[in-house]
Amino acid sequence: MINNVVIVGGGTSGWMAASYLKASFGDRVGVTLVESKNVPSIGVGEATFSTIRHFFNYIGLEEREWMPECNATYKLAVRFENWREPGHVFYHPFERNRVVDGFALTDWWLQKQPTERFDLDSFLIASMCDAQSSPRYKDGSLFDSTFERGEEHRTTLTEQNTQFPYAYHFDAALLAKVLTRWGVERGVRHVLDDVVDVVLDEQGAISHVVTREQGDVHGDLFIDCTGFRSVLVNKALKEPFISFQNHLPNDSAVALRVPLDMAEHGLRPATTANAQDAGWIWTIPLFERLGTGYVYASEYATPEEAERTLRDFVGPAAEDATANHIKMRIGRSERAWVKNCVAIGLSNGFVEPLESTGIFIIQNGIEQLVKNFPVGKEEIDHELRNAYNRQAANVMDGLREFMVLHWYASGRTDNQYWKDTKTREIPDGLAERLEQWKVKLPDNDSIFPHYHGFESYSYRAIILGLGGLPVQPLPVLSQLDGTAADREFQLVAEQVSALVEKLPSQYEYFAHLHGLS
Ligand code: FAD
Repeated sequence: MINNVVIVGGGTSGWMAASYLKASFGDRVGVTLVESKNVPSIGVGEATFSTIRHFFNYIGLEEREWMPECNATYKLAVRFENWREPGHVFYHPFERNRVVDGFALTDWWLQKQPTERFDLDSFLIASMCDAQSSPRYKDGSLFDSTFERGEEHRTTLTEQNTQFPYAYHFDAALLAKVLTRWGVERGVRHVLDDVVDVVLDEQGAISHVVTREQGDVHGDLFIDCTGFRSVLVNKALKEPFISFQNHLPNDSAVALRVPLDMAEHGLRPATTANAQDAGWIWTIPLFERLGTGYVYASEYATPEEAERTLRDFVGPAAEDATANHIKMRIGRSERAWVKNCVAIGLSNGFVEPLESTGIFIIQNGIEQLVKNFPVGKEEIDHELRNAYNRQAANVMDGLREFMVLHWYASGRTDNQYWKDTKTREIPDGLAERLEQWKVKLPDNDSIFPHYHGFESYSYRAIILGLGGLPVQPLPVLSQLDGTAADREFQLVAEQVSALVEKLPSQYEYFAHLHGLS
């Protein structure tokens, strides 16, 4: 049996893995986490995906226990600015399409176009973001009571079947602290030291890692959470890395932590992605500051230009903030799990920060590890490893395709960076799907066929919002009675105005949770 797991790396992936394993196995499996005192964690990764709540639910941490400590806020959508043309805005909400007479409301929208904004016409969340509404009332109840039922059983990404309306923004360093405390209290052995060598056995598996000051650390299974360094899987086990750079040009980022009076600034419950000349700038509103950064392609901008663009974008509030320049490795390891070592987090790969999928990939990796947990018998473990590797690769490849769509379908062609996004190589299979989507917006049968977190409603939102892919209404809709669809658009408008009137602002909600009001 596998009795001892050694995790190397103490960033978000290391501590999420440690706490999840403890929540799964309790004392039946020993968990040691080795974390360098000298190599900092990446320091970004503060916006998440709506399924993150299953992670907190699984380990049994409630919002009020961790959110105030991590300066956390709610995220209901990604707000895209300037991706079609300067001044254009749309939201990609965590909200499925309503269905009217068997057709998604966005199908009806394309035919009727009640206003220019598919998002405001078809979803509640877009207007809630504009109004900076909290998705919860001050008494803790949710704006949509269908999600109110507590979950009797802990679930996982691939088994859940809801579209919960929000994710979180949080300070990643503070969350790592909360998870460290949670894990150590439940028996995770925490070793603060550098791994300076990885020793293999005769079969080429990892026998132990060597630390600078505290000797050898042995284990049955190793988890590589060493970030872009990928010390175990890519370096020691020499697993090849498949770059996605030919499809996705952004390879660099510069980030700033900007102190702001959020009571004055307000807390929009969305991550903003503002398109720029060589990439895009994220803005993540936390309770006590903004997290912001410019993700760009080094082929089109230098680090100095990128930093200047970011500072100009943020304005005087960024004057004293220190810039964190990051080189990104875009792509994935050929196999995430090699011999007795699984890479989780940036050590396995990374696609693009645009839809905040980094932590989602980590969550998926940990859940799948538990589902495919080895037993120490090679004939069985071999198949479990293969199953894991197939699923992990599909998630990354699906995300790659969805990300490529954001640049390919954007209406912008105003400089070389944006022109090149229309001629760059696209992944196999996407060309055919694009042709289909031009005639019939994506449905769950026409998107990337394996689980990768996104459903067809997200593809629709991106295509309708970006405006660069020529799409047309479904022909049959002109032969149907659209009265019910008209009523539904009206209903959305009525529900929205009632909600934004009743809900507290996100700032008010969190000020209350922090005991400030
Ligand atoms: P890291 O944070 O780099 O941690 C690596 C750890 O390994 C550190 O603790 C380090 O000390 C340790 N280590 C390294 N070498 C050794 C050694 N030899 N010995 C011992 N320890 C060692 N994800 C999202 O979900 N949402 C976002 O909004 C988002 N934005 C991003 C923006 C950018 C620009 C980038 C680059 C990434 C973003 N991500 C985002 C991804 C997210 O940051 C990562 O998925 C997440 O932080 C996990 O990182 P990690 O733990 O794998 O690596």
